[in-house]
Amino acid sequence: MEVFKPVINVVLSECPGEISLGIMVAGCPYGCKGCSYKSLEKFGRVELTLSMFEEELRKYHNQATAVVFMGGCWLGNELTVYLERSKSNGYKTCLYTGLKNIGEIEPSIIKNLDYCKYGRWEGIPLAEKNSNQRFWDIKNNTDLTYKFQIGK
Ligand code: SF4
Repeated sequence: MEVFKPVINVVLSECPGEISLGIMVAGCPYGCKGCSYKSLEKFGRVELTLSMFEEELRKYHNQATAVVFMGGCWLGNELTVYLERSKSNGYKTCLYTGLKNIGEIEPSIIKNLDYCKYGRWEGIPLAEKNSNQRFWDIKNNTDLTYKFQIGK
């Protein structure tokens, strides 16, 4: 899996209620206008192997609670393995994807997800009430988008 450097970013606001390890996966094919990932190219890319990944999971064990993959739904089986490893190491999992609805995500991925933010970038962030994007609790089949909009 090719990711932008640094391999891991500890993030607090991408997944409500969790301290997350954010992984920015390179090569998203959707090409949304205004995609912020383009600005990450200047930091370079690295091949994230499973052994590197597990080392990071061990390093942050007891500190972080979830792993968030951003941009990787199209990786199919490869992403599934990384999600499975996250869960077997005690982390919750979250996917940020440009797919337009949950039904488009492969079943092997869904099975290993706790949360998912879906929807292309159309210029209106999740924190705005008229955003096209949604943040979903997969296990409880519940829309949690409102958690990003509290105080709006
Ligand atoms: S789906 Fe996300 S990562 Fe992919 S091009 Fe759109 S904004 Fe960028």
